[in-house]
Amino acid sequence: MEKSSGENGGATPPKKPRTAVVKKAAPEKDQTAATTIPDLSNVRLDPETLQCNICFLPFQPPIYQCKHGHPSCKRCLAGLNNKCHICRQPIGDMRCRPLENVLAGMTVPCAFARFGCQEGVRYTERAQRHGHEASCQHAPCHCPFPGCSYAGAAAQLFAHIRGAHAAGSPSAVSSIRCTPVALPRGMPFHVLLREEDSRVFLLLNGGDVPKGRSLSVVCVAAAGEAELYTMAVSGGAPGALSLSASGSVPRVRRWVRYPTGGFLFVPDAYWRASGGSVSVTVHVKKLPPPELEEDTTAA
Ligand SMILES: [Zn+2]
Ligand SMILES: [Zn+2]
Ligand SMILES: [Zn+2]
Ligand SMILES: [Zn+2]
Repeated sequence: MEKSSGENGGATPPKKPRTAVVKKAAPEKDQTAATTIPDLSNVRLDPETLQCNICFLPFQPPIYQCKHGHPSCKRCLAGLNNKCHICRQPIGDMRCRPLENVLAGMTVPCAFARFGCQEGVRYTERAQRHGHEASCQHAPCHCPFPGCSYAGAAAQLFAHIRGAHAAGSPSAVSSIRCTPVALPRGMPFHVLLREEDSRVFLLLNGGDVPKGRSLSVVCVAAAGEAELYTMAVSGGAPGALSLSASGSVPRVRRWVRYPTGGFLFVPDAYWRASGGSVSVTVHVKKLPPPELEEDTTAA
């Protein structure tokens, strides 16, 4: 197109000065560029750049864009009938890779930094179930005693309970090595402390079943190796049957309700026959590491 118009109109652009201009401009350009390149190690980013202009939530990949480069998050795209909210151009399968790359390269402090964690977490991996934060040992664990708002890492909770709650009467705290413990029917839980690794276990005594109580064991911790408990309950009456159960120990950072899954049912008659308290023995042992056969990533 340019060629034909040049021939027809006779407006041939002047070609002579071209080499002279290029020779002069090149070194100047390099010099100014060298002095204006910013130090990227000190970059600060306006957080609004990283949030969707439609829902105002932080972007998560995939991010889509119209042909003018206006980004939209995947959540909002459906509500827009695949039209850009700014220029009304179609917005469909064109990804906003530069913005996705920025997110992929970003590291943020662990959510539990204020509890002492120094780890950085990849921004795009934060929401992942098996990411660092799901198993962070600094994640706070909450004290189970009513009216106590203490929360700290698992080892700190251990020290807190021993210091603040072990002196109650009847005692709701003991060492796991000192079982059996006498468990009154009306006591909702008994704390079992394991000194070797500062673990806190709760022997839960739930009133969530009719005509009896449900006994189970949980560990108050963020994460750790799988463990198995065995529990045996015996009444005080001579000749009374002993009850027993075993199962894996669920981990909770905050105990809010009784587990609805596995528990040992202790009927009311059993408590009555033993003067309102039963004797409970609890053993917890670590499970051998699982064999690498279950692939949970398979859909
Ligand atoms: Zn959005
Ligand atoms: Zn647009
Ligand atoms: Zn952490
Ligand atoms: Zn407490």
